[in-house]
Amino acid sequence: MIYQFSVGRLECVVVSDGQPGPPFEPSLGDFYTPESGVPADVLRDACRGRSTLTCGYNCLFVGTPDGTAVVDTGLGASFLGYGEYIEPLVGKLGDGMTSVGLSRSNLAAVVFTHLHQDHSRGAIWSGELTFPDATAFAHSAEVAFWSGSVDLPSARPHLEVARETIRLFGEKLRPFEYGAEILPGVQAIAAPGHTPGHAAILLQSQGERLLCVGDTFYDPLQLTNPTWATPWDLDAPASVASRRHLLERAADEQILVHAYHLPFPGLGHVQRDGSTFTWHPLHDR
Ligand SMILES: [Zn+2]
Repeated sequence: MIYQFSVGRLECVVVSDGQPGPPFEPSLGDFYTPESGVPADVLRDACRGRSTLTCGYNCLFVGTPDGTAVVDTGLGASFLGYGEYIEPLVGKLGDGMTSVGLSRSNLAAVVFTHLHQDHSRGAIWSGELTFPDATAFAHSAEVAFWSGSVDLPSARPHLEVARETIRLFGEKLRPFEYGAEILPGVQAIAAPGHTPGHAAILLQSQGERLLCVGDTFYDPLQLTNPTWATPWDLDAPASVASRRHLLERAADEQILVHAYHLPFPGLGHVQRDGSTFTWHPLHDR
């Protein structure tokens, strides 16, 4: 699945790494749990009969003056980490790139919103760098966290891939700080909580903007219920604060949003509704 658009002079392409459909869609009850602060009856009332969510892997390619960059890289091929069912459903990034004439060897940069495996494994799944000439960018706290002793249970499944990403890129991995202009027109925005160095990415060109929010939310239910956390938010209160801040900014400044895990292509606008928000997919407008 391919979606081409532009942000000012920045040519953009959303390339899906996969999007498992029914019966392989994950259960809402796995994302919003009593332990993550969402009692079962509250979830049941909010989701109005829906029991699953559509979880896409929307990788974003951006043509910058310094070359083509990709924001997050999907799960990659030969992935069995969620069970055997997932392997044929993901790892489609390479085919998608080929269909729009993007070459792995021409990629100049890989920008990671964070180093969870569903964002970084696409860059290293074969045991070698998928994009051999690319420079990688991740927040300094993200690199430090995964390089240290990680003993949080919800972080453990991601540890091996995160460490392999850091090892394989080596000197070509450039840590950034929030606010930094990583590439021309590509800025890192503070969004800590999901992981210690989780970053949103703001594209700006000729007065147009796009805010890539990474894993700030997984489903529109987290806009109508911005206090809901998931088991994968390593610091739930910080993730809630970041979500609220980013949603307020996107709504108040009317910035187009790219949401990595929403249904393809994950593009839409956010509207503020008192202290909550609503999601308006680009193609419903
Ligand atoms: Zn993710």
